Order: sequence, then C-alpha cells, then structure tokens
Amino acid sequence: MKYQSTRGQVKNIPFKQAVMMGLAEDGGLLLPETIPHLTPGDLDALAKLAYPELAFQVMSYFIEDIPSADLKTMIDRAYSSFKHPDITPVVHQDGLYILELFHGPTLAFKDVALQFLGNLFEYLLAESGEHMNILGATSGDTGSAAIYGVRGKKNINIFILHPHKKVSPVQELQMTTVTDANVFNLAIEGTFDDGQQIVKETFGDLEFKKQYALGAVNSINWARILAQVVYYFYAWGQVRKQTGAKKVYFSVPTGNFGDIFAGYIAKRMGLPIEKLVLATNANNILARFVNAGDYSSSEVHPTFSPSMDIQNASNLERYLYYLFNEDSKQLTSAMQQFAKTGKLSFTAKQIAEIHETFLSTSVDNDQTLATIRDFHNATGYVLDPHTATGIKVGKDLSAGDYPVICLATAHPAKFPDAVNQAIGRDPQRPACLDGLEDRERRCEIIHASTDTVKRYLAKHAL
Ligand SMILES: *Cc1c(COP(=O)(O)O)cnc(C)c1O
Repeated sequence: MKYQSTRGQVKNIPFKQAVMMGLAEDGGLLLPETIPHLTPGDLDALAKLAYPELAFQVMSYFIEDIPSADLKTMIDRAYSSFKHPDITPVVHQDGLYILELFHGPTLAFKDVALQFLGNLFEYLLAESGEHMNILGATSGDTGSAAIYGVRGKKNINIFILHPHKKVSPVQELQMTTVTDANVFNLAIEGTFDDGQQIVKETFGDLEFKKQYALGAVNSINWARILAQVVYYFYAWGQVRKQTGAKKVYFSVPTGNFGDIFAGYIAKRMGLPIEKLVLATNANNILARFVNAGDYSSSEVHPTFSPSMDIQNASNLERYLYYLFNEDSKQLTSAMQQFAKTGKLSFTAKQIAEIHETFLSTSVDNDQTLATIRDFHNATGYVLDPHTATGIKVGKDLSAGDYPVICLATAHPAKFPDAVNQAIGRDPQRPACLDGLEDRERRCEIIHASTDTVKRYLAKHAL
C-alpha cells in the first residue's frame, strides 16, 4: 500500500515515510492510494478476533513495509497499557451501545492511537538512526495522551504547550506529573489559540524544523486515523454478536473530524454502517456543513466539551478529497479559497451525497447537562460531556431500524465540574488518578511568543 497527498504533489510513498512526514510536504493530508474492500467472509473472520489481533489484521491491510512480527509487538505493547481486558469494551445502556474508548493511561480515546504511535515512532527512529523533537499545542486531552505515548522513549523529546491555568486541573496534573527526562511541559501565558499559532509558526520556519527534526502528533498523522479504524470493526463485531443486526449506526462526538473519518474509512472498507452520526457542540461548523453545505468558521465558543471547541476541522480535507471524486486540483483550490475567506459552500448534489453517509446536529451546554442527568437517572451510568453530545444526537437522529453505537471518548472523571453540575456529585475517580495531586511535577511557565519557544527548543532539543 502506497500513500499520496490530497493535494496531488506527493505520491507513491510507503507507509513508514507517510508516518514520519505527518503533514504532506505540499500542505495536504496523506491518504492510502486505494482503500481495500473486504468481503462478507473477511468481515466474519475479523468479527471473531480479540482486539490486538483485530488491530494487527486491519492495520496490515494498510502497512506493507513493516515485518509482521514487529508490527504485532508494537500493537501488543500499545494495548497492554489499557486497564480493561477488552481494550475498548461495549456496554449496553438505555437501548444504546456505548463503546468505551477511555481505558488507556490518560482516560481519553486519543490513547488508542497515541499509545501505538509512540511505539511506531521509536521503532522507525531506531531503524533509521535518527531522532525527533515532537512539538505540539494542546487544549487538554491531546497533550497528555501524546506525553504518555512517548514518555521514556529513546531518540524522542516531546515539548507540549498548554495555556497556563486554562486547562482543567486533572488535565494539567496528568501532563505535569510526567517527569521523564524526555518530556517538557511548557505552560504559556496565553490561550490555546496562541499555542497553536506558535506551533504553526515554528513548523513554518522550514530551516528550524529541519535543524531540530521537529515532528508532530496531531490527528493529521495517518497512523492515528488508522489505529482508530480498528475499534469501529471491534464494536460492530460485538454488537452483531449480541443482536444479529445487519447494520449499525455510529454516533461520534466530533472536533477535528479525525475520529469520525476513521469510521468513514471503515465504511468504505465495507463495514456495514448505515450512517455516521456527527455530534458537535455550540461550535457547529460541521453540523452546518452536513445539513446545509455551509462550511464557514466563526469565533470559538468555550463549552463543557472543550476537546470539541474547534472551528476548522483539520481532517475534513480528507473527506472532501473523496467528495470531490479524488480530484486533487479541485480540492487544492477549495482549500486555498477556505484559507483566504474562511468559507466553503457545497451544491445540492454534494449535500445529498454527504447525507448518504452523515447525519448531524449540534448540542448546546444545557442539552449536554440534561443528557448526562437523564441518562444517569435512567441507568446509573455517568457520561462525560463529550460522550453526552454523541448520546443525544445518536438518540435523536437514528431511525430505530438498527442498533446505535455511541463512542465514549473520555472518562467522566476528566470533567468533574460539568458532571457535578448535571448530577449533583463528582464522578468516581479511577485508581490511576489516585494521589495525582501529591506527585512530583515538572513544568515551566513561559512567555507566549514564538521566539521564546524556539529558544527553549534550541536549548533542550535532541
Ligand atoms: C479529541 C476529542 C474529541 C474530538 O475528536 P476529533 O478526532 O478531533 O473529532 C472528542 N472527545 C474527546 C474527549 C476528545 O479528547
């Protein structure tokens, strides 16, 4: 399997190179040149597998340049850090199937991809004799999952910027209590947007990027998407076993369109998905895209589901490439237009095509709390605010013809304030957070400027 860029200037590169490239060198996003189509027999065989074996089979369709035994070892090591024997268990509550993706070390679904990606980076760097300095900005979840993915790994240093005092206390502690020598937490005196801007500018200095071998861990990396395709197969297999259903819905709390794009790939591979239901919060750009063909960004509104507070979904470009019938020229000019005007619009025919795959609505803060409260009253099960948006939309938009699988993207203990407002008590804290407040911390507070961050990197980079 070879990879190519959505913008058409990077072609025919192997998986390993695609992983190390991250963002394609022409500014586009990398995709496999073809998507394998599975037969019903293939699907039956996959449905019988335990999670690590399934991950190996699904990833093997897309990876030809890593020996099987090595890939297996990386997958097994990644998922041995998960606290549940099923890795991503499916639970049945209130007529819905909840796919719990939060049993990894930082209690968010991003661990599923980043535990694997950390091993993959270490493996590829050992092979090439190179090193890498990862630089990223986080509003909370990505930072801790990336830090846990690469802590203690050889030939990798990681520098994560978070906005000082603007992430939740649990999120801050999860990052700053990792004291491995290769982990650098930088609390910038500014906002998440400032952090993202600094990272963008630093990567934009191509000479600096090359000199310090800068690497990225955001969800534009194809390996992250690929690792997430696996659990769509897993959840479908579990639900089919329990219900015999011929098709399923998936409901996905969405920000950067990475997680739901993994579901789109699974559907294109032949997984019988009736619809992908896309939940947004008040930052409803993707709901407007699906329902009216209106993709226009506005101000970011802070909500109870901060990991979805996004107005420009970086992975949408991958879907648009397919919507434009794999026409790189059309895609490139659309992305240039979006960069200039912050706006794209789509024809009635394109909207009809989007509706063949996606349904969407946005869920406001009051509805999010009401969903947590009602679900808790009905079942005793506590939802995190991100998951709650997916539960609400999954219930409202599915037609009742097939089972609905809702992706639970974070453990409620990461967002105790919203949960407390909804149900009048804090969620139970899992054991991995015990004593978090008392652990040693390492973090530097720095001025929010690109020059300051570059100077810091130059001093501490490998
Ligand atoms: C990152 C995140 C999301 C959004 O996922 P995307 O891949 O960006 O769409 C949803 N919920 C939680 C808890 C997250 O951390």
